[in-house]
Amino acid sequence: MLAGWDALAAPVTRAATVVHPSTASLRAVDWRKPAQWSYGIHGTPVSRTLGARLAALEGGDHALLQPSGLAAIVNISLGLLQQGDDVLIPDNVYGPSREHGDWLRKFGISARYYDPLMGADIARLIQPNTRLIWIEAPGSVTMEVPDVRAITSAARAHGVHTALDNTWSAGVAFKPFDHGCDISMQALTKYPSGGSDVLMGVTITRDYDLHLKLKRARMMLGFNVSADDCALVLRNLPSTALRYAAHGRSALAIAHWLKMRSEIEKVLHPALPDCGGHAHWKRDFSGSGGLFSVVFNAAFTQAQTDAFIEGLTLFKIGFSWGGAHSLVAPYELSAERNTWPHRGALVRFFIGLEEENDLRADLEHSMARHLTA
Ligand SMILES: *Cc1c(COP(=O)(O)O)cnc(C)c1O
Repeated sequence: MLAGWDALAAPVTRAATVVHPSTASLRAVDWRKPAQWSYGIHGTPVSRTLGARLAALEGGDHALLQPSGLAAIVNISLGLLQQGDDVLIPDNVYGPSREHGDWLRKFGISARYYDPLMGADIARLIQPNTRLIWIEAPGSVTMEVPDVRAITSAARAHGVHTALDNTWSAGVAFKPFDHGCDISMQALTKYPSGGSDVLMGVTITRDYDLHLKLKRARMMLGFNVSADDCALVLRNLPSTALRYAAHGRSALAIAHWLKMRSEIEKVLHPALPDCGGHAHWKRDFSGSGGLFSVVFNAAFTQAQTDAFIEGLTLFKIGFSWGGAHSLVAPYELSAERNTWPHRGALVRFFIGLEEENDLRADLEHSMARHLTA
């Protein structure tokens, strides 16, 4: 770039137009080729820097950035599926991801929902037209941890691709390619951004042909990411593993504390032995981050648990997670799940970077005030 210039931050390279030195150079441009610059939508130096670092973190070879996590999910499904195809989606998947399954039906693609804990039995659900199996590890609301290896082995035996939503682990605590996945995607919106102010997704593969297929779909969908947003994610990326561990320590301590409270019927946290699929978490994951849920005692009305949520001061009410601030959100599962055994209110917490004791005091205070029998 500029002679004599060097810095630790990647330069923010905004561009729609890429300028060529000659007509021959412009004619020779091929958007498929990773080493060429063709047009802003196919990447600029800052987005490629971010993509390369994310691919290295996950142990993959090729990365594609999308304008949100959900855009990455849709990019993968539309890139790999066509009319007449079938896709399997876990029953405990992130809500909009489930909705995308229903939405795919308008393209003549059938989406079926499977029990995330069925493991190798998923082979029984694979049809001749099944092309893709989605995995979320763990499901980011009810936290069951699937046996990823069993699912990817069954898929491979039938020539079916697997795509794993790796957002919960931030690419820090779980390495999808070590467990047989073909595609790993993440909502960078969460831990990698770390600022609760950027929406972005990434799709990582090892297979180059798969990468090209998804890159073509990304172009057809017109998905672009801003250079400024890439720089924001690059700024916080180096601290992701440290932040993940800090969120994880506080979250696990608070989860243990909540487990002892009579107001709570069950704490849904993959590192707790009674969580669905805990043995898979123990075998395959190296951490647990800040996200978990609880089921309140069914004796409490929704009005009471809502009052508890609104009585919190450090926990803010809202979706998404991965930033410095603790968050809380109620979930209505009857509309989202084929099967769910609990009747009590489900509330999801994200434990931020505040003092753990302050968070515990906030929870205790609001429970004492609003959850009395
Ligand atoms: C947030 C989230 C997404 C979607 O990410 P957005 O950037 O908000 O679109 C996808 N999967 C999981 C598990 C998520 O938590």
